[in-house]
Amino acid sequence: MSKQFSSPPLTFDCAFESGNIGKVVRTETNAYDIYIRPDTYQEKWRLWFYFRVTGVRAGESVCFSIMNINKKATAYRLGMSPIVRSTSRPKWERIPEKYCFNYTDPRGKAKNPIVSFLFKFDNERDEYFFAFCYPYTYSMLQRFLSRVTAAGLPYFHRAELTQTLMSKTVDLLTITDPAVDDSGKKVVLITARVHPGETPASFVCHSVIEFLISSGPIPEALRRAVVFKIVPMMNPDGVYWGNYRTNGLGHDLNRKYLAPRPDAHPVISAVRRLVRALYMDEALPLPLEPDVVDSTPLENAETRLALVVDLHAHSNCTGAFFYYNANKNDPVRDAAEKAYPTIVGRLSRPFAAGCVRASTDSGKDGTMRRTLENLLEPSPFTYTCEVSCFGGLLDGTTSGRKEVYTPDSYMQIGRDLMVGLAEYLSLDVSGRS
Ligand SMILES: [Zn+2]
Repeated sequence: MSKQFSSPPLTFDCAFESGNIGKVVRTETNAYDIYIRPDTYQEKWRLWFYFRVTGVRAGESVCFSIMNINKKATAYRLGMSPIVRSTSRPKWERIPEKYCFNYTDPRGKAKNPIVSFLFKFDNERDEYFFAFCYPYTYSMLQRFLSRVTAAGLPYFHRAELTQTLMSKTVDLLTITDPAVDDSGKKVVLITARVHPGETPASFVCHSVIEFLISSGPIPEALRRAVVFKIVPMMNPDGVYWGNYRTNGLGHDLNRKYLAPRPDAHPVISAVRRLVRALYMDEALPLPLEPDVVDSTPLENAETRLALVVDLHAHSNCTGAFFYYNANKNDPVRDAAEKAYPTIVGRLSRPFAAGCVRASTDSGKDGTMRRTLENLLEPSPFTYTCEVSCFGGLLDGTTSGRKEVYTPDSYMQIGRDLMVGLAEYLSLDVSGRS
């Protein structure tokens, strides 16, 4: 016999961009078990959730339990909590830490992590949205880029790199000062959001773009010295579906750089060809049609492609840091490769606790960073930049004071990355051109 409850149920849905909820089970009058929908065609990834609740009763407290997170260790163990907004309070806020509980399912042998949180509704006419982290959808990006494009800035150019399997346009932005000849400039490639659930990466990338098109001595000096190529969202399909890790076919695109298939990974195939063109200083006819990539290793001692930064977010770590390709046998190159992250670590608080990490495990084979290292000689300095989905620990311990990140925190990180780049390149930022 099904349980009897003393009030009508709440209404749940995720019928909007980036929404994700799989199943809801009411277990008590004021308690619901929530199951994340796994990534499309990929049962093993379950972390991003984003759902709407309506039909609430004002003053009622409800316990929501996220039942099927696939990761044993997430920042929930450090005090992270889901975020909420409502019609009346449209700015995202974190659920207070004291109302969020991270524990292991006592009923199962698999030691599934469960996150439960309490929330008290305050307005029965409101819609309430709950999410893993601050959403940043493909539509948000398109609106932002449309505004920038409409401004007609001479140093900003937007092109279509290619299309996804769902026929969504993947943008390629070029930012540089057209009054300065490109031949003397370095080239910096910035990519973001290959992993759709890592939304903070989009806020970082958004502010990088905003900073680079702004006026001021540092962005102006950067535009004179650098051609920036930016792919701000590499996995729009996964973002649209509300996936955590994969594209619409359930493939982790940041493990497909070695041999991207044009029929399954057209964006990775296009980014590989973009890197090749930038490295060899060749023109690229856009937009790119899906094609097999040429995997011949390349050499170009004169290449202008100096830096590649792939923006990600981390669901377990705190703060922010760079993974880099360590060079144990070449200490000079190793020190040179660590210079940019070290500068960022000095001027940006989230990076201060440990700005650069070597990563040599085989699980990272097929990432952009690892692939470029093996394909290009000399390879550009290539980094995976990770920012916490949660926040930072101010004294570097798990019990210390916390700084909980907001979208503004991520935007500051984006500006820090660019200020650090100007310092790394020893640019004259006195304002004289
Ligand atoms: Zn990632």
